[in-house]
Formats: sequence, C-alpha cells, structure tokens
Amino acid sequence: MPIGYDYRCPKCNHQWILFSKRFAIGPSQWGETKYTCFSCQTFLSVATSLDSNSWAMWYRNHYDDMHQNSVTAQLAGTINDIFSKQRGLTPITLNFSMIGCPTCGDSMSTVPFGQHLMKCPECKQYTGEFDDGDGISIYAFPDAEHGTEPSDAPKSPIGREFES
Ligand SMILES: [Zn+2]
Ligand SMILES: [Zn+2]
Repeated sequence: MPIGYDYRCPKCNHQWILFSKRFAIGPSQWGETKYTCFSCQTFLSVATSLDSNSWAMWYRNHYDDMHQNSVTAQLAGTINDIFSKQRGLTPITLNFSMIGCPTCGDSMSTVPFGQHLMKCPECKQYTGEFDDGDGISIYAFPDAEHGTEPSDAPKSPIGREFES
C-alpha cells in the first residue's frame, strides 16, 4: 500500500499529499545515481556504470516498462546510442546532468529526498515542508476498506525512500 506524505507550505498555507513513484534504468549492481523530483515525489535510479552485454539483457527484460514512459524511453534510447557508437566491451559511465521527471517533467535533482523542500503546487515555490504535526497519515487506495490504519511508519520520510 502506498504511503501518502503530507506537505504544508508555510508561505501560502497550502496543504497537499504526495505519493511516491519510482522508475529505474539499467542494472544497479555497479552503482546507481538517484534522482528525485521535488515537485511530485518521483524517484529515478539510473545505473552509473554499464557494459553493453548487461545493458542489452536488462533492456530486453524491461523493454515494455521503458516504453510506457517517454522520458525513460528517451533515456534508454540515449544509452543505446552510446553503445552503438562504442567499440569493445569497456563499461561506460553514465552521467546525466539534467533529467526531466518521468511523471511531471520538472527537472530532477540528485539532492537526497528529505534534504530539500518540496515545490508547492499553489505558489510554485520550493517551500513545502513535510508536515508531521499530526503524525504520519496512511492514505489507502480504494481497495482497502478500513480507512486509516495505525502507522508504524517513521515520523519523517528522510532516508527511508531507497531502503527497499
Ligand atoms: Zn515530478
Ligand atoms: Zn505555497
């Protein structure tokens, strides 16, 4: 069940809820760069080091996932281009300086989640604070009929997002 995070903007008093969304590109066993969207709470992991064989295999297995989203499809295409121009089997290092969010298109950041304020959907400034005034709330999707459940979730989302 996804956990909804409460945010509040002290400038305009707007309150809103965000649900994490996750994307990953490439196998992660040789390291990954984690990008975060501070507008919509989307997380994107991109492999930092790749060789053409492991990429080709990963891409085959994740082809449909990659092509369900134009941003991931484009990034996968860029990686394919790099390998098509490369000779030999030396692993490449990927370093995208600018990535647009696969969900909302805003530019993503490599600042870890929890160390940056969120973009307020009302006044469009990065002023949104995690609102733990009433403790964390769990927002169930409609298939759960029992409404709000007691939470053993941490008081703060910091450091929790990439643990799984
Ligand atoms: Zn976004
Ligand atoms: Zn605001």
